[in-house]
Amino acid sequence: MARDYYGILGVGREASDDEIKRAYRKLARQFHPDVNPDPEAQEKFKEINAAYEVLSDDRKRQIVDLGGDPLAPGGGGAGPGGPGGAGPFVGFQDIMDAFFGGAAGGARGPRPRTRPGADAILRLELDLHETAFGVEAPITVDTAVLCTTCSGAGTAAGTHLATCEACGGRGEVQSVQRTFLGQVVSARPCTVCQGYGTTIPHPCPTCAGDGRVRTRRSLTVKIPAGVEDGMRIRLAQQGEVGPGGGTAGDLYVEIHERPHDVYSRKGDDLHCRVTVPMTAAALGTRLTIKTLDSEETVDVKAGTQPGSTLRLRARGVPHLRGTGRGDLYVHLDVRTPTKLDADQEKMLRDFAKTRGEEVAELSKQGGFFSRMRDAFNGHP
Ligand SMILES: [Zn+2]
Ligand SMILES: [Zn+2]
Repeated sequence: MARDYYGILGVGREASDDEIKRAYRKLARQFHPDVNPDPEAQEKFKEINAAYEVLSDDRKRQIVDLGGDPLAPGGGGAGPGGPGGAGPFVGFQDIMDAFFGGAAGGARGPRPRTRPGADAILRLELDLHETAFGVEAPITVDTAVLCTTCSGAGTAAGTHLATCEACGGRGEVQSVQRTFLGQVVSARPCTVCQGYGTTIPHPCPTCAGDGRVRTRRSLTVKIPAGVEDGMRIRLAQQGEVGPGGGTAGDLYVEIHERPHDVYSRKGDDLHCRVTVPMTAAALGTRLTIKTLDSEETVDVKAGTQPGSTLRLRARGVPHLRGTGRGDLYVHLDVRTPTKLDADQEKMLRDFAKTRGEEVAELSKQGGFFSRMRDAFNGHP
């Protein structure tokens, strides 16, 4: 079945050449791959071109009006390289006009000399105390800044940009090639002006025409309380100034928290280890714990087991968002004495006896393993 070329362009069968042309331009602008990267739009664009090719050609349009399809194989259309050299790309010049400087164009043209700058990133090492409670940290930033000699214009004092003679200010050069598909017009950036359409006959001596210079700046960045390792703080427009003095990008300060001697951090909670002698764990005791910003007295209950944890509420890192703080977990290492003198050993043995706990005397029985062996061999 023949394709509905009128329907594709959205015109009636009685449409004039002018109406067809207008309808085609309108659709081509909407679906041109340069403005509409959607793959479906590309298909649509091909269809539009085919419809225009057919309906703008009296002979092909006649075939359509008679119910045929001039583009169908054997449909009677002019093949590639046929009469007039008109192939599937008839009408390409119209698109070029529409897009590259024609009456309705303006989508391309010379590229602006002034462009936005890039973002920059900086690593900032902080101590736990600083990430927890915030700090005003001095930083040194090495970025492009506006050239003050020319205020970003790139031209030497009293001079101006000149229109590029190679491209006439369009920033691109068109070339027309005759191929077996017909006439193909292509545009590429002008190499003389790098596509700007203008040249700088007398560049600014400070920035050599770039409109910006590299420099080191000192800034103070306010780090809020509760930031975490890996977080980034954005400083708007403190990044690289763009070419031609374009708006600066943003500066991101990435937080790196140095490991702490005492506390390890998990989110907003802190963890630390405290050693407690066996006797204190058995009898109970009172400990003074140094927290991040204070000292706390906590009771260790009598009979505390190794591996026990004390939780000090709201003694961790302040929450970045909202109020409150994480907790501090104190992990108790219960230490067994490693060296006992004779008196201490006797006291412990008497203690064990009163509790009915059997304690072998290793020195007299040849050690734990010989006792195990005796047990297996049936000796007492
Ligand atoms: Zn040029
Ligand atoms: Zn300059």
